[in-house]
Amino acid sequence: MTLYAIDVGATKMDFGVFDNDGELLEKQTHKTPLDSWNHFTSLLIGQMDEFEGKYGKAKSLGIGVAATVDPLTQKASSASIKSIAGRNLSKELESILSCPVYVGVDAACFTRVEVLKGKAQGKNYVFGLILGTGVGGSFFINGQVMKGRDGLAGEWGHGNNLHEKLKACGLKDHLCGCGQTSCLDSYGAGKGLERIHHQLHDVDINTKNILDAWRNSEAEACKSVEIFITLLVDQLTVNVNILNPEMMPVAGGLAKAADLIAEIDKRVRKNCIANYEEPLIVPGEFIIDGCLRGAALLIPAAN
Ligand SMILES: [Zn+2]
Repeated sequence: MTLYAIDVGATKMDFGVFDNDGELLEKQTHKTPLDSWNHFTSLLIGQMDEFEGKYGKAKSLGIGVAATVDPLTQKASSASIKSIAGRNLSKELESILSCPVYVGVDAACFTRVEVLKGKAQGKNYVFGLILGTGVGGSFFINGQVMKGRDGLAGEWGHGNNLHEKLKACGLKDHLCGCGQTSCLDSYGAGKGLERIHHQLHDVDINTKNILDAWRNSEAEACKSVEIFITLLVDQLTVNVNILNPEMMPVAGGLAKAADLIAEIDKRVRKNCIANYEEPLIVPGEFIIDGCLRGAALLIPAAN
């Protein structure tokens, strides 16, 4: 059976076709239409038509979205992707595409593929982390995603209010997209590291270059990365104490920095209450295309 899946991010949309064994046969990437539902659906219909011409009519579709989905109303909420905000994606797209549509949050899609096919196979308590543009996550218990009342479980990057810690490091507050000030989301992922480095040293360099300079023991980068790691580790330790997970696979751009993830893992395991002898926070097996692969696994026939 051919499986079709879409990963809707705030910048780009990946469309994928998978074979019976979950192998990715083809992927097409487009810029996400952010403001218009009509543009969003036109793009989706056009790409699906092209795929169906090559691989056959879709019997169902899995979609992962960088948005929250209310478990009761099934409506999506997103500050950045206004084109889908307030839409019941599964219902509305089912009537357009004439096939069942299964929708999941992107962090949960990534965690799903790690639980079913990746490094967290056989684990009952898995907290998948996203360290990308911002931070996010999703908790799986016995193979099931814990959505929470409003579908907001796993949003560990907001409401942290780092004001005092930032002030002590000579950093400024930042207004977060959620409306609060100085959330970890603004300092704990790729953009956050760049923000810290810019504020401390008045230099604009990207995450990769900051990390390369850190690896070369350059003083400015070492200071930035140390603050970055400390802010992340403080919150991750709380997450671990609350959830006591068996594994925390990481996706997002920073997951590619295995040495950074290993340092974060070492410190969290040192600080948390439980005694973890093996690495807990590890780069996921599906750092690339994890959400797209997990979206395909939302389709019941895929499991
Ligand atoms: Zn926030």
